[in-house]
Amino acid sequence: MTIQTPIKKPKYIPSEREKAFLNTVENAKYDRQIIAGIKKFTEGKVPEDMQGFYSPEELQALEDLKGTGLDVEARMPVKITRHYFDIAKNSKPIQVLVKASPAETYDLDGSADPGNQMSYSPVEGLIHKYELGLIYVVGTCSAHCRFCYREELIAKKDIEREDGTVAPKGMAQIGDIVDYVKEHNKIVADNGGRHPDTGRERLREILMSGGDPLVLANKNIAQWLAALSEAGIESIRMGTKELAFYPDRFDDTFFDMLDKFHMAYPETKLRLMVHFNHPDEFLKKDENGDYIPVPGGGLEWLENTKRAVVRLGQREWLTVDNQAPIIKGINNDPDALRIMQRELKRNKVENHYFFCGRDIIGHKAFNVPIEEAWRILNESQKGLSGVETHARLSITHYKGKTEVVAVSNKPAPGIPGGEKGVVILKLLRGAADAPDRGKITILGRNPEAIWFSGYNDRVIYDEAGLFEEA
Ligand code: SF4
Repeated sequence: MTIQTPIKKPKYIPSEREKAFLNTVENAKYDRQIIAGIKKFTEGKVPEDMQGFYSPEELQALEDLKGTGLDVEARMPVKITRHYFDIAKNSKPIQVLVKASPAETYDLDGSADPGNQMSYSPVEGLIHKYELGLIYVVGTCSAHCRFCYREELIAKKDIEREDGTVAPKGMAQIGDIVDYVKEHNKIVADNGGRHPDTGRERLREILMSGGDPLVLANKNIAQWLAALSEAGIESIRMGTKELAFYPDRFDDTFFDMLDKFHMAYPETKLRLMVHFNHPDEFLKKDENGDYIPVPGGGLEWLENTKRAVVRLGQREWLTVDNQAPIIKGINNDPDALRIMQRELKRNKVENHYFFCGRDIIGHKAFNVPIEEAWRILNESQKGLSGVETHARLSITHYKGKTEVVAVSNKPAPGIPGGEKGVVILKLLRGAADAPDRGKITILGRNPEAIWFSGYNDRVIYDEAGLFEEA
């Protein structure tokens, strides 16, 4: 095992077009009123109305684990904004999402690097799969979801790389990413459209992730947007939960930056990948805890969230898609998911993916069995129109993004192993190799399975190769 030593690289130099755009960008100051760390609650150093958020018993149980191998905050630091607290105080599912619980470390089974991400990281801070690259631009969010599968990044844990070095995951640097994109795309172009080693196509899309890129200042976001466009990226996604955690982040200065970016780089598409888990995160409730119907249809939203969503929807060159995991105690509820899908689509937010939980360390506290997650999503889509039911259920295998296509309720006659019914998975995107798309895997049912390993002894047909040795 060796320790990594950072190498000093030349600074990235923006083009004249980038500089002209960046000079127009204005930063703003935000007061998210964040409470970070369970200690603030334990020591009573939170505003009065927040003091009962954790009961004395809950705080004691967390305190008892401090410094032990089961320390909950060492797994994932506690963080919440005032806006999200105001939602959570009246919502059990949102409390489960954001409150630390000793259950998180009862069973520490799981992976330090879910999805084998480091195998796809040619440059620090970049995960290159398919024709898409994911970059870590920041290591935190305005609040922290307890189920987060980036807990290793947010809690700054040591991760072993392919070359045996061990260090916390580093952030992407603009110069490194631009160089990599240009070089990869040149090799692909010189080789007739595919990379000679991996078979991958041009890197066309980058997902800015972390952490949440919207905790960065407008100028930092703008630097990334411009540099990626200059490097030839056609479509930039920003993965954010800020509509739920702090919708006031979508202010005049942010929209002004986006508009000016669009003027400077009209050819680059922007896609906001937002993250709502539950309708309580954006809908108002009356004194009985019920959502409030709007005359003419739909439900009443929280004002600042609605304002942000309307302003996003007014920009036709930008798309907004929601994707969220289905998590135990938060949204394993068909009625909540039905309301969420209907309201989002009504307000120009597409329903993109729902995810099965990942095999992160401690995943047993969060994950809903795969077959149950499929049933919940399927139930939630009953009564929705076709355009409201675009979301698919995905589970991320190290080989690529996989859809849980169907779970049969009855035995599959004549199929050995299908006596209790079957599960059909389909590879949506092969992480390394695009041609694998569309291949399927058929498994005998196991209602208890929360990860692929739950089917190791039930593989009926594995065209997609999901159960081959890694
Ligand atoms: S918003 Fe996403 S990255 Fe941030 S803590 Fe939640 S799941 Fe993790």
